[in-house]
Amino acid sequence: MSYQVFARKYRPQAFDDLVGQEHVTRTLKNAVEQNRLAHAYLFVGPRGIGKTSTARILAKALNCIHGPTTTPCGVCDSCKEITGGNSLDVLEIDGASNNKVEEVRTLTENVRYAPVRGKYRIYIIDEVHMLTPAAFNALLKTLEEPPPHVKFIFATTEPQKVLPTILSRCQRFDLHRIPANLIAKHLQFIATNEKIKLEPAAAHAIARGADGGLRDAESMLDQLVAFCGETIAEADVLSIFGFTSEQTVGAFSEKILRGETAAALGLLDEQAAAGKEMMKFMSDLIAHLRDLLVFKVKPDALADEAAPGLQSSLGAEAALIETDRLLDLIEQFAAAEGRMKWSPNKKLHFEVAVIKAIQTLGQVTLTEVIENLTALRGDSAPAPIRDRARDRSPAPPTATVTPSVSLSPTPLSAPATAPTADVSTIWPQAVQLVHKRRPLIKNWIDTARFLGTDGRNFLLGFAPDQKTVMESLARPTNRSFLEGLLKELTGTDWTVQLSLDESLPATPPQVIAPAPQPPRPNDSVETFRDDPLIKEALEIFKGEIKSVAT
Ligand SMILES: [Zn+2]
Repeated sequence: MSYQVFARKYRPQAFDDLVGQEHVTRTLKNAVEQNRLAHAYLFVGPRGIGKTSTARILAKALNCIHGPTTTPCGVCDSCKEITGGNSLDVLEIDGASNNKVEEVRTLTENVRYAPVRGKYRIYIIDEVHMLTPAAFNALLKTLEEPPPHVKFIFATTEPQKVLPTILSRCQRFDLHRIPANLIAKHLQFIATNEKIKLEPAAAHAIARGADGGLRDAESMLDQLVAFCGETIAEADVLSIFGFTSEQTVGAFSEKILRGETAAALGLLDEQAAAGKEMMKFMSDLIAHLRDLLVFKVKPDALADEAAPGLQSSLGAEAALIETDRLLDLIEQFAAAEGRMKWSPNKKLHFEVAVIKAIQTLGQVTLTEVIENLTALRGDSAPAPIRDRARDRSPAPPTATVTPSVSLSPTPLSAPATAPTADVSTIWPQAVQLVHKRRPLIKNWIDTARFLGTDGRNFLLGFAPDQKTVMESLARPTNRSFLEGLLKELTGTDWTVQLSLDESLPATPPQVIAPAPQPPRPNDSVETFRDDPLIKEALEIFKGEIKSVAT
């Protein structure tokens, strides 16, 4: 037997062979079983996912000698002719090349004749949206009053271009992009049959590259077999098609989310130097960010798409960014992708997009400003001011934490690298620097309690009612800003760890007095005026301090 490409050799021949379209096959099988057949069907979906295969299987189901049946035998003359594409009763027309009025007119005139062998004359019109309006109109006449022995099966990638009068006369089925894991599984099935050794990662890389199209995936496998022989590794797939591995795309996205501009650009450069197609890498990045978005909204929704093992790393990455920022990021990269398409220097546009994205991540969003103001308003209510004044007076000059913290029942492991006492003197300085350099988060930082250190972890605790503040501070930009400050002050790398501590009082804790300053006069108006929180509150409420109640 002559060589057949996989897409042809493994073309589905029965409803149950169709991959990833159960929602369509189930309905069609029911219709055939109950003999509730429509005159015209429309199969909609991207290319290479099984629209014409479904049409042919439906044709066999109707015209099989045992038909109509949900399981066409595949061996009767009618089935064999349909499979071979030479049935006189099943006419396949390519809308793209047969869009002239006369041809459609001939077709619709032939409609009158009874079928030769089977029960129905079946017209399969692929890319039906390509027909000219005149051809559509000729077709419409038949569609309005089709003879009982005629069935139309249309397929299209662009349903919006099909005339509404045609659409309204069809039973429409939307075929889906096939999930990557299903494609990979199907490729493994072919590989086993063909005695090819296909690495699971390689199968997944092909499936990802095929973007939901089974036919493309099968053609890629064909090419790989021609090129690599009987053993196919992931590296082969990546190098032959210029794809980037999922791990690399993940690492790249993580660098962007962490704001590591130099590292991200370095990785981009590496990929360009390795001859990777920049457009493909960009679309991979966008697809990855989209996966992250889906993961944030519904973690189990990716079970069919993401390679096993990738799910956990998605989880870690998803924690780095909030949903609205991720949406912004996807929009930015999609716009950049559009610009890249027409530009001779694609890499440059890519780099600019990465830099801009990281810059945007560092900016404060409106949500953050509002959260901040809300927090500030809450803080500057009269009652807490009194409390604050009382709390502050007895505070020793080097006070770092209020007593409640030392009583914290949270088990903290003993500090490993530096004694807590030393590091604790750092915290007030850090707080001071935050006030100076990033006033927007100073109110958040004031609600944090220094809990101690654990190895290289710098532990900050928050009262349970300060959860939103803690989450705001946990944003990558804020966290890396704090880590930068701590490094500046101690010369050591720290990982800032934020946690809720039940033992902390619900009232926002004390603003920590900066270490080097002498004790302040108790409850004086000056103390209040110096308080940055009060300053900001006065700004907001356009007020002035008349007196301080004690
Ligand atoms: Zn048959």
